[in-house]
Amino acid sequence: MTYAATPLAPALQHLTRTMPASAQYKVTDMNTYRYNKKRKEHQLVSVPAVPRPKYVPPVFPMSAGDLEAMHNGTGELLSILSWMRPDKTQAEADFVRLYVADLQALADVYRVDGFGNIWVTIDPVTNEGARDVATSPSILFSCHTDTMHSVGGRQDVEFKADNQTLGLVQKKPGRCLGADDGAGLWLMREMIRARVPGSYVFHRAEEVGRLGSTWVERNDSKRLAGFDACIAFDRKGTDNLITHQMGQRGISDAFADSFLGSLKRASDGKVSLVHDDTGSYTDSYSYFDYIAECCNVSIGYRSEHGPNETLDVGYLWSLRCAMIRADFSGLKIERDPTVQDYGYGSGWDGFGWPKGAGGVYRGADAYADGDYDYDLPKSYGRGMGRISSWREDELARKDKASKQAIDAADDYFGAEDDRLTTLCREFPSVAATILQDVGITAMDFMESIGIGYPEDDVSEASN
Ligand SMILES: [Zn+2]
Repeated sequence: MTYAATPLAPALQHLTRTMPASAQYKVTDMNTYRYNKKRKEHQLVSVPAVPRPKYVPPVFPMSAGDLEAMHNGTGELLSILSWMRPDKTQAEADFVRLYVADLQALADVYRVDGFGNIWVTIDPVTNEGARDVATSPSILFSCHTDTMHSVGGRQDVEFKADNQTLGLVQKKPGRCLGADDGAGLWLMREMIRARVPGSYVFHRAEEVGRLGSTWVERNDSKRLAGFDACIAFDRKGTDNLITHQMGQRGISDAFADSFLGSLKRASDGKVSLVHDDTGSYTDSYSYFDYIAECCNVSIGYRSEHGPNETLDVGYLWSLRCAMIRADFSGLKIERDPTVQDYGYGSGWDGFGWPKGAGGVYRGADAYADGDYDYDLPKSYGRGMGRISSWREDELARKDKASKQAIDAADDYFGAEDDRLTTLCREFPSVAATILQDVGITAMDFMESIGIGYPEDDVSEASN
């Protein structure tokens, strides 16, 4: 199908005609209108100044020597981030062949489970000069292979002026840097190359509702036996050790302190993380009932899941050096995985999270087994007839998973998201102007939500 560039307003009108009624809003022209609820009509208001996103400098300081070492050592990271690899795409499958399956040559044990998650073990016994293996805890490191891109393919990434922060060259909707979780995946490759003892799992389909790890939890939990800790590398920022996910404690304070101490010593104080109990979830959350200590560690990305995502490579490089050098034989394993603990201090009080309610969300996973009562409106599918590439079963599957994830996230972060959605609804013209200002065309927009704009409709739409 070929697409033609079109003016924004008619394109948006065309777009809304193809959407379900519930998702439609009044498309106005490029002036700014505000909906007056009393008079039930849109009224022209003065155009507010559009705030520009401010450049956020990296927070992790690097010396010139470290910066040079980092640039020499992170070439592969840039290649990894050039892949747009959402779940169930050919690009993701190709990517996994290139950047995960090749680890077979280095692994002492290499397995692919029934879902497609890949498990690599670096055996401490065959690791000459390894630390005291008899007393060392057994660690499972975790990342995920998929990203939040709307389509699979390749993209250009570049260092910003500071020579330390990576970002996208072209910021388009439906895109992201994919450092969530390309950064975690790269870090695990580096640790495997350096033969850091432990097991490493490359999860599939995390971004569409933790499908890979919940599959393991339900169908293959024997694989989790024997691990003392699961350390996921899938957290934004440069200073977080996630102690709680969905309000439930995943690691003991003793583990947190001993792990952070090891990282600090191994990095001469550079990698200095703090306890954070405000985690939503990543794959390690699926293993709470099976592995004693389950956490998530900052790997340097921010503004993930969107075109403004950046990665502080300086931080990631320092974390990589620390993880390779650190001695984890003194990690304290104390949490009892059979006991659910929702007691925590500061993080969630403001969100009105009821005590013990976290269990509802874990239980809600059962919906993914088939009795989940969520369907797209009938008219939705008909209106979307022009979409060429969506396979319906896949759409339904993704939608179930993402609706669950969105519902859960909304309860936590709803306040912020609702505000933005409400603003877009109330000020569609301003929203469109902001999109245009950052270089996003109507065609980009439609592409990102999966709606093609066929050439033969151009004349109709521009009349
Ligand atoms: Zn992630």
